[in-house]
Amino acid sequence: MSRLVVVSNRVADPSKASQSGGLAVALADALAERGGIWFGWDGKVVEKGTRVPPATHTEGRVTTVTLPLTRKDYEEYYLGFANSVLWPIFHYRLDLSDFRTAYVKGYQRVNSKFADALAPLLKPDDLIWIHDYHLLPLASELRKRGHGHRIGFFLHIPFPPSDILAAAPEHQLLVRSLFSCDLVGFQTNTDLANFERYVLEHQGEESDGGHLKAYERTILVGSFPIGIDAEAFAALAHTPKADAQIQLLQRRTIARTHIIGVDRLDYSKGLPERLRAFRRLLELYPQHHKSVTLMQIAPPTREDVDAYTDIREELEALTGAINGRYGDFDWTPLRYIHRTIPRPTLAALFRGCQVGLVTPLRDGMNLVAKEYVAAQDLNDPGVLVLSKFAGAAEELKEALLVNPYDIDEVAEALEVAITMPLKERQERNNALLERIRRHDARYWQENFLSALEQTSLGAAA
Ligand code: ADP
Repeated sequence: MSRLVVVSNRVADPSKASQSGGLAVALADALAERGGIWFGWDGKVVEKGTRVPPATHTEGRVTTVTLPLTRKDYEEYYLGFANSVLWPIFHYRLDLSDFRTAYVKGYQRVNSKFADALAPLLKPDDLIWIHDYHLLPLASELRKRGHGHRIGFFLHIPFPPSDILAAAPEHQLLVRSLFSCDLVGFQTNTDLANFERYVLEHQGEESDGGHLKAYERTILVGSFPIGIDAEAFAALAHTPKADAQIQLLQRRTIARTHIIGVDRLDYSKGLPERLRAFRRLLELYPQHHKSVTLMQIAPPTREDVDAYTDIREELEALTGAINGRYGDFDWTPLRYIHRTIPRPTLAALFRGCQVGLVTPLRDGMNLVAKEYVAAQDLNDPGVLVLSKFAGAAEELKEALLVNPYDIDEVAEALEVAITMPLKERQERNNALLERIRRHDARYWQENFLSALEQTSLGAAA
């Protein structure tokens, strides 16, 4: 079995992987089994001219190698090109993207630095697995340095339609770089189809049985929907401490039905639209006053990017307006928590809430949707209301699928969820749970790596 080299923007501390969720665990497991390296940014920013060699930490067969970014790299690569250009565009939000020439240069520079730092660590037989939109050019940087390894790339966020991507600076270069890989994986068939269409329109010659030929190379492409560690999450939701937290939740309010939303405070998550849909529910169904609450947990994220400040202000104003209009001395309809919550508490809250409201405007996958289902009690499960624009909707057909832009439709789905009979809740939950268990994080990781191993070495070189 080849050694594995995982490269991602941030490196999770393998000893704390279980706190970061399924993805970190899946990658830490793959590394532990094969032995290998996890390489990436350590999350620190240093001033220009400070030379910090990569830090190495080995535990068992796994070595993490991390390096800091300079302030300029942080601003141009991380805040700039990755999070102010690629993130909005790949989430179909051209209106929020902020192009600057310096960003493109910073992005290329950091990818080139990563390749320089990684190159001396590679052994001839290594499998290299690159993750996400921060590192689209990394494979081509490694090829430029003469590395003929098998390289896989997985995109965690959506891949936009061709016409949207064509508005991104250097879009041809970005896609061309992916053709330095042997395998390129996406979350959904929609993302895969968008990629294939872009390639065929701009460059492509042939597409056949998962192989795509363009830019004088043939690569394997596929969709590999990410999963969670369903068993571990269910166990987290069913501890004596979780029972006590759920009882507390129920005792502290007169409401009988709790709706929960949990998302980073990101504009892709559709939070203002979600609060408006909840307000519409209260407008349309006065019988739910005092019997329903929405708890929205939205920890801060990327606060150095301007677009994120606006959304925070909008949410705070909406929360105040809804509670002011509908709240009473004995009932607060909406609770908005702008903090990170320990994972065990989150699991307990999912189990204790009768509706999971997951309505991103666009999302690569959305693990919260899967976690909500995994946490439910089989005897009395809650109902998942899910955006049809989350990657998870391709698999989770038994959720109540909604258009998150359509406030009335989401309000109606909430009404259906709140009043759904037990038998239907159980049928839907069982079907969802079965798929989430089967297609878990391990299944994702093993599928991707076995597809990568089957690519013929050097075929794409
Ligand atoms: P994204 O990767 O865009 O943030 P996902 O839904 O795919 O969205 O994954 C988010 C992960 O972060 C989930 O595992 C979720 O449980 C976790 N998470 C989200 N909000 C919080 C919070 N307030 N506290 C702790 N964990 C959170």
